[in-house]
Amino acid sequence: MVNDMETKLINAVNPHAFEEAGQILRQGSLVAIPTETVYGLAADAYNGTAVAKIFQAKGRPQDNPLIVHIGDCSQLNPLVREMPEQASLLIDRFWPGPLTMILPKSAQVPNEVSAGLDTVAIRFPKHPVAQAVIQAAGTPLAAPSANTSGRPSPTTAQHVLEDLSGKIDAVLDGGTCQVGIESTVIDITVYPPRLLRPGAITWEQLRQVLGTVEIDPAVCNPLTKGQAASSPGMKYKHYAPQARLILLDGGYEQYCDYVRAHAAPHVAALCYQGEEQGLPVEAVTYGAAHDEWGQARELFDALRKLDQRKFSLVYARCPKQEGVGLAVYNRLIRAAGFEVISLE
Ligand code: AMP
Ligand code: MG
Repeated sequence: MVNDMETKLINAVNPHAFEEAGQILRQGSLVAIPTETVYGLAADAYNGTAVAKIFQAKGRPQDNPLIVHIGDCSQLNPLVREMPEQASLLIDRFWPGPLTMILPKSAQVPNEVSAGLDTVAIRFPKHPVAQAVIQAAGTPLAAPSANTSGRPSPTTAQHVLEDLSGKIDAVLDGGTCQVGIESTVIDITVYPPRLLRPGAITWEQLRQVLGTVEIDPAVCNPLTKGQAASSPGMKYKHYAPQARLILLDGGYEQYCDYVRAHAAPHVAALCYQGEEQGLPVEAVTYGAAHDEWGQARELFDALRKLDQRKFSLVYARCPKQEGVGLAVYNRLIRAAGFEVISLE
């Protein structure tokens, strides 16, 4: 795609911001918008031609479906063919918020959104700017993360511009995203419900509401040859930094010993705040050791920093796989192409 348009940066505090973004969206063009998870690249979900532009701008594989974002629950029914029982339990407890549900799709959802599947992914974001834009557009918005496919998801308007400047009409700047990683995705069209992507709404919280919830094996493991992906996104390389990234699973002392033994120019550490002092290589941090929320918030920015600094090998601290930590682990293990060294 040619970079032939000027991408307008609209500040969300500007009194006409939502009206302007809503108008661009109604015309069938693209606007990147902040949500509480990451920035999304939005188009009118009922306009297949507009939605097709998202795939072009991101270089996204055509068979990877998009999440539809609604601005209030009245927009839900027309998108869905039938409502599974569990939907209302999840809506009451977690919406608006960082939870996406896979539901049977209605005939009104364009094929461009669902990539030919019989289901549609739907979320009601909590971010006031996202809600205001959806209201102003007067239509649900299909929006994947606003990055070039395969790059770390954007958590600031600046990240969006790094990837998509010249390829989309506008970016609505609403500051840094609070959660920092993409929404939890749960499929409730199957029994038991299946966690397809961990996020800020945790597996533990979902089990409290639904009872049994299976974690799809592809959340923590590579797909085996010939295995069908429950979610098309699982097939694709994700969040890959340019450097080779290896997760080191063990305590802080063991991590430092390993990095010291393998220190070299062009080797870097991706560690927790305050840990960089003990290391003989350049370090980028992502959150504090016992703060998985901070790790989630800072992870993608840290991966982008590593890319800018052109290291060839990065040793990362391996997050704990509990609570929000499971989501951080899921993103990092993909960034590492599933390369983990156990130090225990
Ligand atoms: P993104 O919006 O870029 O964060 O990606 C959305 C994720 O949701 C991708 O991994 C998609 O494959 C997944 N997804 C979207 N729609 C569906 C669906 N109907 N069934 C299963 N997974 C889906
Ligand atoms: Mg994405």
